[in-house]
Amino acid sequence: MQVTEIYKSLQGESTYAGVPCVFVRLTGCNLRCSWCDSEYTFQGGRKMSTREVYDEVSRLSPNRGLVEITGGEPMLQEREVVPLMQRLLDDEYKVLLETSGERPLESVPEQVVKIVDVKCPDSGEGGTFLLENLKTLTAHDEIKFVLSSRTDYDFAREFTERHRLAEGVNAVLFSPAFRKEATGARDSSQCLLDPQELAEWMLADNVPARLGLQLHKFIWDPAVKGV
Ligand code: SF4
Repeated sequence: MQVTEIYKSLQGESTYAGVPCVFVRLTGCNLRCSWCDSEYTFQGGRKMSTREVYDEVSRLSPNRGLVEITGGEPMLQEREVVPLMQRLLDDEYKVLLETSGERPLESVPEQVVKIVDVKCPDSGEGGTFLLENLKTLTAHDEIKFVLSSRTDYDFAREFTERHRLAEGVNAVLFSPAFRKEATGARDSSQCLLDPQELAEWMLADNVPARLGLQLHKFIWDPAVKGV
């Protein structure tokens, strides 16, 4: 499979935020979200076998623990990534899969925790979510909306209610997008949507969702990669 980087850091998003985690970041994405902070994954990387990726994960985290498969869009390499996830599960790693929601997810092993994006209108990739993926979600999975405007918030709230998302998954996450060029200040001034404003909307509307901040961007410079 084509791999951009493998590194250990703290999980920055989802209900696992703050937990040490090995990230396997695969190369390539078929979407182009306007606020994407992973454009460096679109090309390059190096070819690695399942065995080589597994060995690097176990070197970084020999006592098992959390591994996230991310990208880019990891499910573009489904043929290689599904056996990798199964191998990690067999060896008792806890496996998270971060995916754009645009690729079919039926082949993902059941024990994998899927963190599935639904792209909102102002990402420039609205309408790409594969609705059939809702059927693959279980009580340990999470759905994430990255929001950059009131339009995005209204879309996410309506989608959450229409599909009764909160009843079927562990968490529905509403997360403000960061400015793509963000650097320096490690605070919410770098968000495209003010978290305070988002919090107030969520409280006013009683949205059954959790506000998520990208923790790593409050710990390290938002421009730093590999953390
Ligand atoms: S799906 Fe993810 S990697 Fe692809 S463009 Fe959007 S944010 Fe970037």
